[in-house]
Amino acid sequence: MMKFSLQNNKASWSAKADKLRVLSLAALMTVSLSSFSQNKSKGIKPSSERVELNYKQRHSKVAGNNQLYADGIKIKRDLTILKEIQEQRILNSDEIPAEELYGGIWVNNHVNAYSNVKEAPDTFKVDLTNFTIPTTGYITSKFGKRQRRMHYGIDLKVQVGDTIYAAFDGKVRVKQFERRGYGNYLVIRHPNGLETVYGHLSGFLVDVDDVVKSGEPIALGGNTGRSTGSHLHLEFRYMGKPIDPTEIVDFENKVCHKDSYLITPETFAVSGSRYANPSTLATRKSNTPNKYAKGEVTYHRIKSGDTLSNIARRYNVSIAQLCKINNISKTTVLKAGKSIRIS
Ligand SMILES: [Zn+2]
Repeated sequence: MMKFSLQNNKASWSAKADKLRVLSLAALMTVSLSSFSQNKSKGIKPSSERVELNYKQRHSKVAGNNQLYADGIKIKRDLTILKEIQEQRILNSDEIPAEELYGGIWVNNHVNAYSNVKEAPDTFKVDLTNFTIPTTGYITSKFGKRQRRMHYGIDLKVQVGDTIYAAFDGKVRVKQFERRGYGNYLVIRHPNGLETVYGHLSGFLVDVDDVVKSGEPIALGGNTGRSTGSHLHLEFRYMGKPIDPTEIVDFENKVCHKDSYLITPETFAVSGSRYANPSTLATRKSNTPNKYAKGEVTYHRIKSGDTLSNIARRYNVSIAQLCKINNISKTTVLKAGKSIRIS
């Protein structure tokens, strides 16, 4: 298996003194912003609080800049600094995200345009730290086998006209209409190597080749194409091959399970999928594509003060086992608010 990792060369966090100064200021502000938010929102679950804060930060221009944090000029000013830092991360408009990985292919008319790319690594680590949930609607249909065809995404409940948000930073690759399928749909390529597909839309808020930020409004939910009842059809793809979104995202808590996701040949070993390689299909023990839905995978949300040994004791598993399934070492620092896989 070939390993591959992609450098985001635009995330030029230079070590120059002036930038460091801005960064440490931003770090300070992040702390005070989150304490601010906690004071304001007692009684809200920590998970939704985190999403809420991201939305507020990201949509400040939509909601009328500065009105959300009306309590002080200092906060306004520091938000501006945060915004500047976020903008440094943005792709250039002439840049193609994950261009090398995708063999330079950038076409504007197909979801899967990559059947001829032979060089793509079959094991690839995807950075998920930039995620925003595209809609907070609940799951109405899972990924996997349906009666006669495969469902290569999941369906999330939306009302016609609900705002749909970009899942990660990226660039709009496809904006099309497909009467018998996706209806109005978008495909966005992300620098982390994934592409996301948004189907059955009632309207578009972006154009082909637009650069978008994670959490930026991109479309309006709808009921176009092969769809009964308004919903968002959401796909996660790697090199055109679909991944069960619930392997990556905890839709109940609106966050990713982990900070990264490791793609392997087994990722696509779903019975009935034309993307499954027969040899990997044979090695997969169960035909059920979604082990999360079956409750075989459990997570613990890390609180401050948690250590590997007290988590191991609490769930009656070994530290070695925790390290193995989370791909971490005994000395890895646990971050409060993140999840750790227990089984
Ligand atoms: Zn669907």
